[in-house]
Amino acid sequence: MSLKDKTRREEYRKQYYLKNKEHIIAQHREYNAKNKERFKERNQIRSKKYYLENKEQLDAKNKLWHEQHKEQCKKYYKRHHQKNKEKRNMFSKEYGKNWRQENKEYIKAYSEQQKEYIKKRTRIYQITHKKEVNARNQTWSKTDKGKLSTLKRTELRRAKQLQAPGIFSIQEWKDLKKKFDFSCPACGRSEPEIKLSIDHIIPLTKGGSNDISNLQPLCSSCNSRKRDYARMWNPKGQMEIIFQGGIKK
Ligand SMILES: [Zn+2]
Repeated sequence: MSLKDKTRREEYRKQYYLKNKEHIIAQHREYNAKNKERFKERNQIRSKKYYLENKEQLDAKNKLWHEQHKEQCKKYYKRHHQKNKEKRNMFSKEYGKNWRQENKEYIKAYSEQQKEYIKKRTRIYQITHKKEVNARNQTWSKTDKGKLSTLKRTELRRAKQLQAPGIFSIQEWKDLKKKFDFSCPACGRSEPEIKLSIDHIIPLTKGGSNDISNLQPLCSSCNSRKRDYARMWNPKGQMEIIFQGGIKK
């Protein structure tokens, strides 16, 4: 092909393009839209390259646009933030959980090493964030886990005051309730109609221990009716031992 032909052909192409510009662009657009997925990766690379080549110019343009559309942007960010709140919370929760799982040893060593500091920091946080801490504690104490923990703490405090021996775990108490089919063996009523409380078969005041073997679940009215008597029920509701008149310490 001679140079003259080449130039003529190029000129013809140019003319054709200018004449049919809109149609050609529309066709390209349609083709690109149809093959969006296919071109995704390629386009990403291209855009990145283009951006890097024209960084300063594009950054300035972007900055200007943002300044001109400040309110609009603010609204958008706010909406986006709200919309993805749950997603974000879930992600950070999951991330934290994984991190703690993977760094168990490190956390243990760190807490041991920084014991005094952590104690101090927690105390300061509790004082400066009283409202939040109280609200969180209140919410937690309403959950099943929180309720059990409160129950255990109360019992342990009482046991400590009475210098009673023995200790029970929350799991042991849960298992015991299950063994009694979540029912009060003295009156036969079940949760949630009643609320099972911890009863010491031999009362703490009479030298009973805080060990799980000395515990039975009773509803609060049966518990208070029992007073200081040492009475024990089996899961079938039969009273097994009765110490008449209570125990003298
Ligand atoms: Zn009862």
